[in-house]
Amino acid sequence: MSKRTFDPSRRNALKFGVLGMALAPMAGLVMVRNAAASDLPHVSEADPLAVSLKYKNDGSTAPRVDKAGTPAAEQVCGNCQLSQGDGEWLGCSIFPGKAVNSNGWCTAWVKKA
Ligand code: SF4
Repeated sequence: MSKRTFDPSRRNALKFGVLGMALAPMAGLVMVRNAAASDLPHVSEADPLAVSLKYKNDGSTAPRVDKAGTPAAEQVCGNCQLSQGDGEWLGCSIFPGKAVNSNGWCTAWVKKA
């Protein structure tokens, strides 16, 4: 019969490893939020993700439709739940590491709470 022992240092390594894996994605979000959006490269309308989401720097040229009680003309990145920061260029959860125009729009638009 073998007697198994558990090394406390191994237990701590496992504990912090799991904690680190859980926090790593959040660290990315914090970094994006803290980065000044004006310093980020702007999302290109030709970017494949932007094309698939019909992103436009000028929302008035996008195929917007009324959504969740918000008229199409009032939907812009500046009042989207997924945008971060303020100013002309904003961070966006959909386009990490890039900036979207505050007057832009894409099909993922969600009214800011
Ligand atoms: S998700 Fe929101 S902030 Fe991001 S591009 Fe689309 S409308 Fe703009």
